[in-house]
Amino acid sequence: MMNKLYLGIDIGGTTIKMAFIDHEGKIHDKWQIPTDTAENGVRMMVDLAASVNKKMIEHNLSFKDFVGIGVGSPGAVNHQLGIVDHSGNLGWEYFPLKAKLEEVFPLPVFIENDANLAALGEMWQGIDDDISDLVMITLGTGVGGGVIVNNQIVTGKGAGGEIGHMRILLDDSVSCSCGQTGCLEALTSATGIARMGAEFAQQYPDSSLNNYERLTSKKVFREAAAGDEAAKQLVDRVAYYLGIALANVGNILNPEFILLGGGVSKAGDQLLAPVTAYFKKFAFKAVAKSTQIGLANLGNDAGVIGAAYLAKSCTEN
Ligand code: ZN
Repeated sequence: MMNKLYLGIDIGGTTIKMAFIDHEGKIHDKWQIPTDTAENGVRMMVDLAASVNKKMIEHNLSFKDFVGIGVGSPGAVNHQLGIVDHSGNLGWEYFPLKAKLEEVFPLPVFIENDANLAALGEMWQGIDDDISDLVMITLGTGVGGGVIVNNQIVTGKGAGGEIGHMRILLDDSVSCSCGQTGCLEALTSATGIARMGAEFAQQYPDSSLNNYERLTSKKVFREAAAGDEAAKQLVDRVAYYLGIALANVGNILNPEFILLGGGVSKAGDQLLAPVTAYFKKFAFKAVAKSTQIGLANLGNDAGVIGAAYLAKSCTEN
C-alpha cells in the first residue's frame, strides 16, 4: 500500500513552492509556480488547484492518497482561525486563506507563518539531533524569525517570533519597513546590507564597493572575501548586529540551536564564524556554552517540509 502523503505549500511574494511529502519527511516531487496576487488572491487559488491536479495526474495520484495540506504564508497568520491577518507582500488584510483553499481542495488545510514553518522543517528534517527547542532566523529580502519551544511553534497572539523587528540600534538613524527604526531587519537583511554597502562605498572612495552600479549583499560578501577593507568592516558590522540579536534571543530561550537561513546565509562560514564569536561574547555565559549557532540545511525546501509537518501534526491529534 502506498504511504499517505501531505501537500506542502509555501506562498512567497514571487513564487509559490509546492511538494508532495510523505510521513517521514521525504519529498516525492517538488515544483513551483509564479505568485499571482491579482484580484485579491482569487486567481492564486485557481492556479494552485490546477497545478496540483496536473501533478497528481502525472504521478497517478488522487486526493485519496493525501491526508492534508499545510500552507506557509508571509505576514501575520492566525492559525486557529485560518486567516492571514496582514501580509504586506501579498497585499492581504484578513484574508481567509484556509477557507479559500478548502473550496478548491477536498482536504483539510492548515496555515501558519512561513518563517515559523521553515523552523519546523529544519527541526524535522534539517538537523540530525533529536531536538525540541530551536530558533531559526531567515535572512532574505526581510528577516524572518521562527521560534520552537518543546516542539511547538511560539506564536503568541499570532505575531510571535518576529525577531527581525527586535530593536538593535537605539537611535532613529535607520528606518525599517515595519515603521519602526533600528530593527534587525533594517540592518542584516539582504536589502539592509546592500543599503549599508552603498554608505560604506561613499565613506571609502578607494573601496572596491564603488565598482558596482547596483550593490547587493552577495557582492559585499564577495568583496570582503577578496580582502577589501571597507567590505570586511561591513561584514563584521553585520555579524555584530546579528550577534547581539542572537545573544538576546539565546538569553530568553536558551534553545539547542539557533540557525541562520535565507539567501544571506549562503555566505556560509564567512558569516557564521564572526556571528558565533559575537554571540559568545554577548550571551549569558551558560547560554553561550549550551546554545549552538549553525547554518540551516534545507535551503528553499524548509518551508514546504515544515508545511507538511504542520499538516501531519494537526491531522494526527
Ligand atoms: Zn522593523
